[in-house]
Amino acid sequence: MFVQRLDPDKLFDAYGIRVQMLYPWKDVVEPPFGAAWAVVAPGQQTKHHAHQEGETFFVASGRGVMRIGDESVEVKAGDVFYQPPFNRHVLENTSESEDLVFLTVWWEDLNLWAGRKEGAQAERPRRVMVTAAPPTPNGDLHIGHLSGPYLAGDIHTRYLRLRDVDAHYIFGSDDNQSYVKTNALRMGLTAPEGADRLAADIQATLRAARIELDEFVRPNASPCHVPIVQEFFRRLYDQGRLEAREEPSPWCETCERYLYEAYIRGRCPHCGSPSGGNCCEDCGRPNDCVDLVDAVCTQCGNPPAQRPFTRLWFPLSRYAGELREYWESVAMSPNLRSLCERVLAAGLPDLAVTHVTDWGIP
Ligand SMILES: [Zn+2]
Ligand SMILES: [Zn+2]
Repeated sequence: MFVQRLDPDKLFDAYGIRVQMLYPWKDVVEPPFGAAWAVVAPGQQTKHHAHQEGETFFVASGRGVMRIGDESVEVKAGDVFYQPPFNRHVLENTSESEDLVFLTVWWEDLNLWAGRKEGAQAERPRRVMVTAAPPTPNGDLHIGHLSGPYLAGDIHTRYLRLRDVDAHYIFGSDDNQSYVKTNALRMGLTAPEGADRLAADIQATLRAARIELDEFVRPNASPCHVPIVQEFFRRLYDQGRLEAREEPSPWCETCERYLYEAYIRGRCPHCGSPSGGNCCEDCGRPNDCVDLVDAVCTQCGNPPAQRPFTRLWFPLSRYAGELREYWESVAMSPNLRSLCERVLAAGLPDLAVTHVTDWGIP
């Protein structure tokens, strides 16, 4: 007899909850569907997500609320929900003490997409610029970079061209980051030399992967980049969208240096993981460096003091309503959507958009 039991030891974290995959099943022919037990702890919810498969939830125990778009409905044992492909759904356990347990079954079938053709037939733009997050020239690209944004952008550009759209794929190297300078110094080079060498490596890797760009922008070699950035900041400042404020910042007494990005590390104030300055690579949330826990200067290893510095700030919270509306209207990966929701729920921070440094755009 083939039998599997809901087994706490087989549960693992996925989609913000705990799941136990039921297939592949040893010695059982693989079915044309996937299935898993899913356990939502009290007060928890599944990650906002959408996928190409159709899916059915069979609720076995507990209670909660299912939200799909603006609709929400109470959930209890015995309820069954069908999710069409690309339907954004969240199931929340509203109980304070009891797990919400459901069986999920999903399958892929082109018939499920019937009636979804309007999108593909919709009026298409004549001209499109495709871009991807600019790589930092403090190292060559690894397979994760390539298979993530850069290959995806290349595929999308080729697809648009096949549909007669005038598509241009453009990005460049993020030369003005502090990591470029600290890495160049480690290589015994000046910051511009380090940026040149690694940007050339990155371009060679992109070519080797046959990722074809219309333009790979080198900010400090371009006659347009620096004036455009300066004009952009000037306009935002004149419109009152950037604020000049004096705030305490980490300062290393030993190195006599303002610490940010590459010059400071500690633990993320949001998730507790080891983090560099200004952004946690683990949870993706920004920090202001002074709020890093157990911070040290990366050059000398000493804990920093604080000194007031005047910087330009972008008060992101002013735009919470517009951002929420925009995020609702665009397609995003489940991870990015969940990050946006977490940041929005925690209150959008004011972001320092200038730093006290000798490397960057003056
Ligand atoms: Zn973090
Ligand atoms: Zn130091």
